[in-house]
Amino acid sequence: MSCIFCKIINGEIPCDKVYEDDKVLAFNDINPVAPYHILIIPKKHYESVLDIEDKDMEIVSHIHSIINKIAKEKGFSETGFRIINNCKEDGGQEVKHIHYHVLAGKKLPMYEA
Ligand code: C5P
Repeated sequence: MSCIFCKIINGEIPCDKVYEDDKVLAFNDINPVAPYHILIIPKKHYESVLDIEDKDMEIVSHIHSIINKIAKEKGFSETGFRIINNCKEDGGQEVKHIHYHVLAGKKLPMYEA
């Protein structure tokens, strides 16, 4: 298995864990671009949002619920945050295991389009 995030899930590569359950793992990004930069990933391997279908809605809603929980626990639910999902080359996706960046802790600049 060559997927780096699958290796993190399996414990072959360490991470700075924020939250874990049987379906998802959340950890601090090793190269943070904001005071809070947390990645949330499903334990099941999906390459990108292009692999998500109606039958996968449970994991998508669970990820949103966990982001909600983390935002409240970390204390940035009041000030707000941004969720980013990069898809393929033009979207800037480097790791081919779907992941949601949660950025918080400062006023974020508008992103480029
Ligand atoms: O969306 P994209 O694929 O570009 O983001 C991958 C993210 O995974 C990067 O922000 C990178 O810093 C992070 N990463 C990590 N730990 C690793 C490998 C990558 O937090 N071991």
